[in-house]
Amino acid sequence: MKTFLKVLILILLLAICGAAVFIFFIKLESEAPNITVEGLPELAGRKLTFTVRVSDERSGLRGLKVYLLQGKKRVLLKEEAYPVSFLKGSTVHAKALSLTVSPVEKGLSEGPAALLIEATDASWRNHLQGNLATQRFAFTLDLTPPRVTLVSRIIYIARGGSALVLYRVGEEVSRTGVFLNEHFFRGYPLKEGAYAALVALPVFETQVKRFTVFAEDKAGNRLEIPVSYYLQRRRYPRVKMRLSDRFLSVKMPEFLSRYPEAQKGGLLETFIWVNEILRRRNNQTIAKLTSKPSQTSFTLTGALKALPRSAKRADFGEHRSYYYRGRKVSEAWHLGLDLASVARSPVPAAASGKVIFADYLGIYGNTVILDHGLGLYTLYAHLAGIEVQVGQEVSAGETIGHTDTTGLAGGDHLHFSVLVQGVFVTPIEWFDPRWVKVRILGPLEAYR
Ligand SMILES: [Zn+2]
Repeated sequence: MKTFLKVLILILLLAICGAAVFIFFIKLESEAPNITVEGLPELAGRKLTFTVRVSDERSGLRGLKVYLLQGKKRVLLKEEAYPVSFLKGSTVHAKALSLTVSPVEKGLSEGPAALLIEATDASWRNHLQGNLATQRFAFTLDLTPPRVTLVSRIIYIARGGSALVLYRVGEEVSRTGVFLNEHFFRGYPLKEGAYAALVALPVFETQVKRFTVFAEDKAGNRLEIPVSYYLQRRRYPRVKMRLSDRFLSVKMPEFLSRYPEAQKGGLLETFIWVNEILRRRNNQTIAKLTSKPSQTSFTLTGALKALPRSAKRADFGEHRSYYYRGRKVSEAWHLGLDLASVARSPVPAAASGKVIFADYLGIYGNTVILDHGLGLYTLYAHLAGIEVQVGQEVSAGETIGHTDTTGLAGGDHLHFSVLVQGVFVTPIEWFDPRWVKVRILGPLEAYR
């Protein structure tokens, strides 16, 4: 009997010790929750997006509060309470909250501000209220859009034409350029806060619906101001092209061997696929390549140089209708100038620049594209072979290839295109020394 009592007391003592250990080391732990904030910018604008992460490994989370602070102002953005059981504590050990708020709608004004995060855990400390963690994250509220002023007075623009827009921006910006209709033309920084954007109106766009300078600062504040412009009338020829069986039987095998999907039953059907589907695909490749930021500074010192001793075979901007045995079968825009000299003539670079493409490209055959800076590119098509490499710097007049008939070309000639930030433009303006001086180099001079 005595032994039984001893064992009972021992068990009781062990239980009391166990409970003490449980209470002191587990339920009364003093580790406060851990708080971090992700994505909070140093400069915030009208919209503030961030993620709050809180965690508590030991007893779990009891509650979380997120406040916006400014001066004496304290605005509760979010409050959460998690279920806590007396013995088990909280089952929520980690929580991520993504919030998007408008600081202005919450009554904050421009200037220094902060986020305050408070989190409590399920510990029994502090009269069962848990350990409290508080963290403050400072940021500055910037609600002023960037100051933008135009340097250019009036911009002359025509269908298929190019123009230079010069402007100044009063602060550091994250994105700036010019909108001409739906097209965005990147602005390139010059000296003293000045920017230059080369812009172009595609030959198939007859109206100007939006022509603005755009700037967005690091806090996301935006400004868009209108550009004064004069839309010059410019007409482009409509041309009838007659397709002969000879042309189809000479040219289509090249495409059939390279593109199995060009097999459409007959040579005429292959031609229609090449002229429409492949042309669109090739033009998209060119637009993508020439829409990227220029990898070189502006290299132009005068007008572009054309293929020497050549005759013009076709104009830029021609709208071509293709006829086969008297029936209209297809149409296309011709987005370059066709220049013919003697067969296999050396092709000089129209200006110095960097090779960004040198490969076979469908209807264009063997093609080279040069980057001249500021988003200005020249393209040379139907070349005999590929004689330059991507990344290579070439100087004005340097031979970059030889004329031939690769791609959709009936006879030996150079198809020459000029592109402004992804848009095909007439090379005629860029061949004209007066136009280049008055419209591009003259205005740029003071800022280079
Ligand atoms: Zn051509």
